[in-house]
Amino acid sequence: MDKADKHLVNPQNTIEILKKFDVHFQKKFGQNFLIDSHVLDKIIRAADISREDGVLEVGPGIGTMTQYLCENAGRVLCVEIDKALLPILEYTLADYDNVNVINGDILKQDIWELARKYNDGKPFKVVANLPYYITTPIIMGFLENDSPISSITVMVQKEVAERMQAEPGTKAYGALSLAVQYYSKPYLAANVPMNCFMPRPNVASAVISLERYDEPPVKTKDEKLMFELIRASFQVRRKTLWNGIKISNSLNYTREEIEKVLTDMGLDVNVRGETLNLVQFAELADRLGEL
Ligand code: SAH
Repeated sequence: MDKADKHLVNPQNTIEILKKFDVHFQKKFGQNFLIDSHVLDKIIRAADISREDGVLEVGPGIGTMTQYLCENAGRVLCVEIDKALLPILEYTLADYDNVNVINGDILKQDIWELARKYNDGKPFKVVANLPYYITTPIIMGFLENDSPISSITVMVQKEVAERMQAEPGTKAYGALSLAVQYYSKPYLAANVPMNCFMPRPNVASAVISLERYDEPPVKTKDEKLMFELIRASFQVRRKTLWNGIKISNSLNYTREEIEKVLTDMGLDVNVRGETLNLVQFAELADRLGEL
């Protein structure tokens, strides 16, 4: 590649670079590299990155999106699990002096330490085309534990993006919707068809942006209990809320106690968990917590 086409983002360059370094796609690492520049533009725009920002990129792959991030952000830190890609990244990112690449598993990183070391202790903006096999643990790990992360703009499976945004009573609504919406404001930035990747994934994708709240939009005295109630009520989707809570191993309430609380909240005793919103789960937790 000469300077004129230093951007990797097209199928020819992607194939050429993998050949040059004799590297193959690793399915086990969820590798689907982006080959469409319009999608990259959309991600960068949705992430709202400026020279003031430190970006954390999960899984840079061969550096396709990283090049754009380097051109727009102050600093970029990449965490890539696949050792075989490191020499490629060294080559494709050689022109940029504001990037660091760490070899490792994102799920095992101490984000506070990374922020101290690579971003003057300031929170990162996460931007990534995520490995789909670990989307939920990555996102929940970033949102919980008070990590220094101010926003998350990521490519995920379309279906997962829909779950994150879903409203009560819909099919996509579940524990993930409530968890994401407790910590952040989700916004669907783009739908992305399969042919924007190489190799093509067998599911449609979407870019979702999660703007982290400084304070959760609802207050509960016991966050842990609220999330246990949420988990319990969605574990048995087809059953009533009291049934879900009753059969949960981590919760210890009688049917009568639960029914009394539901009635006090003005709800039907046979209500299903999937119809409750975040405010109601918070109230349920506070009332049950007092028993
Ligand atoms: N950002 C690139 C590649 C996306 S594919 C692009 O858009 O073209 C997902 C990337 O995540 C791959 O590079 C894969 O090796 C990496 N990856 C998979 N599991 C990971 C983990 N646990 N920690 C860090 N990176 C991981």
